[in-house]
Amino acid sequence: MVENQIIQKNWQGHEGTVVASANGFDVIDCKLCGFKHIIPIPTEEELEKAYQHDYYIQEKPLYIERYREDLDWWNMVYAQRYAILEQHLPAERRRLLDIGSGPGFFLLNGKKRGWQVKGIEPSMQAAKHSLGLGLDIENVFFTETTAPKFGHFDAINMGEVLEHIPDPAALLSLVNGQLNDNGMVCIIVPNDFNPFQMVLRDHLGFEPWWVAPPHHINYFDFDSLSRLVERCGFEVVHKEATFPIDMFLLMGDNYIGNDELGRACHTKRMNFEKAMNQSGLGNVLTDLYSAFASQGMGREVVLYMKKNSEFIE
Ligand SMILES: [Zn+2]
Repeated sequence: MVENQIIQKNWQGHEGTVVASANGFDVIDCKLCGFKHIIPIPTEEELEKAYQHDYYIQEKPLYIERYREDLDWWNMVYAQRYAILEQHLPAERRRLLDIGSGPGFFLLNGKKRGWQVKGIEPSMQAAKHSLGLGLDIENVFFTETTAPKFGHFDAINMGEVLEHIPDPAALLSLVNGQLNDNGMVCIIVPNDFNPFQMVLRDHLGFEPWWVAPPHHINYFDFDSLSRLVERCGFEVVHKEATFPIDMFLLMGDNYIGNDELGRACHTKRMNFEKAMNQSGLGNVLTDLYSAFASQGMGREVVLYMKKNSEFIE
């Protein structure tokens, strides 16, 4: 059977089994990198053009508007994220950089908690929105040239960034260089090819909708992201999953390409999390999502890590 054929491909030293194909790209489980990514890998120039001009407009037209609608839930999610960072840092160390800061609401939460915050956001539309909130934002990419200008930080946040980057190991090394000793990093990426998605694809005939090249270059899971960050000089101190939203698909709510149903499922998820937190049992939710993480489940991987000062490259 054609579907069961194992196809190996290689491109410029990257080599591995093809796990999906879309938009003229193959996703390989790369032996060189230790995680799944597309080949060919787009150049920085191709991506820079795509992001500055069309990302928020063409790819995510309702992104900022939706963010505002869900703001009370986001504020709850962000409060928990800062609480974890604060647990691992002394009280006087509150300087944070958000790489890919989007509309700026994560930074705004930090500012209100007494953090000194700065954001880097390549999308003009999102950067403009953040400036309107009175935040310190640079409308650039975090690169070898720009990174040293921003100074050093006690914590760096990168939500939904690493899946878009042609060389995530190089970015993590730059991040390491701008962190103070024992500084913390929080990384959030989609948890792709997760067990629920595999059931949907292999048993229920769903196309792998999460494969989205060229915007999504890398396809991580808990294990592959943990290995990558350890190779780049970090020690993972806490792991959490986000809600396994693809479970709705398994239960019969096919929200793929159905925005209205997608919003309804997302609202149920927010209701569930708000109820748990507002009842004072937020810790039960944290334990549940940590347990999901240990099983490789959840829609996203959330890793908290510390700069490993013993690390020698
Ligand atoms: Zn590779």
